[in-house]
Amino acid sequence: MSPELILQKYFGYSTFRDQQKEIIETVLSGRDAVVLMPTGGGKSICFQVPALMLEGTCIVVSPLISLMKDQVEALRANGITAAFLNSSQSSADQRMIETAFYNGNLKMLYVSPEKLASEVFMSAISKLPISMFAIDEAHCISSWGHDFRPEYAKLKLLKFRFPNTPIIALTATADRVTRKDIIEQLALDSPSAFIASFDRPNIFLEARPGQKKLEQIANFIRERPNKAGIIYCLSRKNTEELSTKLQGKGVKAMCYHAGMSDEMRAKVQEDFINDEILVVCATVAFGMGIDKSNVRWVIHHNLPQNIEGYYQEIGRAGRDGSKAETILFYSFRDVAVFRDIFKSNGGSQMPLKLSKLDRMQQYAEAQSCRRKMLLNYFGEVMEKDCGACDVCKNPPQYFDGTVIAQKALSGLMRLKENVGVNVLIDVLRGSAKHEIFSKGYDKIKTYGAGREFSQREWNFFLQQLVNLGVMEIDYDRYNFLRATEFGKDILFGKKTLELASLKLKLERDAAAKKATKTKSKSEALKDELFERLRVLRARLAKAKGVPPYIIFADTALLAMSESKPTSDQELLAIPGMGDTKLSLYGEAFKTEIKLYILEKAKGGSNLKGATYMQTLEMFSNGLSVEVIAKNRSLNPSTIYSHLSQLYAGGEDIDIFRFITQNEIDKVLGVVQKMESPITLRPIFEALEEKIDYTKIKFALAYFERNKTSILAK
Ligand code: ADP
Ligand code: ZN
Repeated sequence: MSPELILQKYFGYSTFRDQQKEIIETVLSGRDAVVLMPTGGGKSICFQVPALMLEGTCIVVSPLISLMKDQVEALRANGITAAFLNSSQSSADQRMIETAFYNGNLKMLYVSPEKLASEVFMSAISKLPISMFAIDEAHCISSWGHDFRPEYAKLKLLKFRFPNTPIIALTATADRVTRKDIIEQLALDSPSAFIASFDRPNIFLEARPGQKKLEQIANFIRERPNKAGIIYCLSRKNTEELSTKLQGKGVKAMCYHAGMSDEMRAKVQEDFINDEILVVCATVAFGMGIDKSNVRWVIHHNLPQNIEGYYQEIGRAGRDGSKAETILFYSFRDVAVFRDIFKSNGGSQMPLKLSKLDRMQQYAEAQSCRRKMLLNYFGEVMEKDCGACDVCKNPPQYFDGTVIAQKALSGLMRLKENVGVNVLIDVLRGSAKHEIFSKGYDKIKTYGAGREFSQREWNFFLQQLVNLGVMEIDYDRYNFLRATEFGKDILFGKKTLELASLKLKLERDAAAKKATKTKSKSEALKDELFERLRVLRARLAKAKGVPPYIIFADTALLAMSESKPTSDQELLAIPGMGDTKLSLYGEAFKTEIKLYILEKAKGGSNLKGATYMQTLEMFSNGLSVEVIAKNRSLNPSTIYSHLSQLYAGGEDIDIFRFITQNEIDKVLGVVQKMESPITLRPIFEALEEKIDYTKIKFALAYFERNKTSILAK
């Protein structure tokens, strides 16, 4: 079988993604390969397809027990014989799997690095046909990387013990040094290196000023019922507070952090994987060991320390390739907090950490395409703006901000540059806070001079003033603000500057949101079907004891709700629908979709769907139209009508018992000359009343069902 056929048969995909084919060919020809692809890029296919084509067993090294379990479950769901061996299993279980393996009954075996490196195992497999070794998360072998695992170092032995077996090393995180290290450590034999783009185009990027976060987050979640997401918080305490507050707002959120009992953590993780809990407020460790492909959004409640961390965390969204959203909340305070921590910890790493934090801050404050900036950070050049970030969607609009800057600067000078962002805003807005009065700040001339702008707007302006070099933050003196020379020039009217307006931005954000909210009818229907299929998936998953995304990815459900397949042929065109899944779940999904179509076809009540199904059942059992009509006390024309609709919906009905191809052609001949909406009577008349209404209905149903191929002619 060719790689393409394997891809379709087992995985249900019709084409390879960028580079997958080349990688597979490399391995098939017996050469080593190093693969760098982002999370969700499709690394697994690169060794799973050749493993199915080659003789023997493919051994996959994976560092995390949870990941092994997930991958093996996914493979089995696709009808591939796979198993894993690690320390979490009982020795009886291990023995059973080893026996299957030794008997040549496994196509893929996942093992921990220490298992593979053990002398007993090594000598056992040296007598067996091993098709290839796949080293997943290969960066763990490098002490340069951030995830170094000493057990991986033992994998050096592989090449010496198995010089003729290809090794494929895969990772989502590796800079040049680590990459070189991987090749050296594994002693790869002149390997081909494949480096994919790290862009994740399905992930929408957005940053927002960090005010009224709770409200913003609660609204965001309410607008996305049934969609799973993660909110990353700074501390354990934050995760607990936020989840409690969200619960107070009616959002079923749970928290997750290292301070909880193992049991509690496992429960939250499991419920999240199984779509039982949709919102988790967590510290950054959450999500590391899980492959859940249908995380639909990720929110950062606070600014992360650096772009590497940020990108890894948002990368946990949308692994299935369907659309996913991210929001980064940002305020000066977050930066100040990290600066304090880095400085008090000191050490040789401090300057590097501070400069990485700076880059993170620049990203959060960016007024140009965010994705460009991100990829640039990772050394990739993107020619065009991405169109899938908040800045691209809603580019900033500038106005003369000189007066605003002057107000802020004048306030700052009168406060003797002895205040930070928040107090300055309070003074400008004429706040009645006790602190302001007790310090006599209400007496200065600029007190209340900036009332026309909200706290949020002032924050946005001050952020820009700092970025534009009008003011700076004195990190060594309580994060107080300080006017620069450029700022003084502006204050004294020697220079002017432009600012982006938050108000305009918010207005336009709201307008854009409203526009997307008024969904077209077809979109609403699509959502409705998706929801039904999601419920069906959950039911099947529960019965099988696997996570829902193992049954089908969101991508597959989305495609089904779009194309509404009702035959096996159509189902096979759905991404992720291989032979095994078709035979296991095809019927259930076809039935659900047919029911849905029938309900919709006749104005929507469930009763209607049921009456169609009754007709179908009787007809399939060989009863004639007359008998069915009599039995159900209905008119034969009603039954014909049912049958034509059922046929249009993809049911297996032989309409040529009621109409000839010649008659169909005649009807369609006149239909194609007519303008829509098409009604029966004009057709009847155009055909000189020679073809009756029932036949016309069947001909139209034929057209409906075969529209694409007819129109293509
Ligand atoms: P990685 O291991 O790189 O994080 P996966 O191998 O888990 O990524 O693949 C991510 C998603 O993309 C999975 O849902 C996978 O089934 C899907 N995928 C992989 N290759 C293809 C392809 N050629 N066509 C469509 N979907 C694919
Ligand atoms: Zn962009």
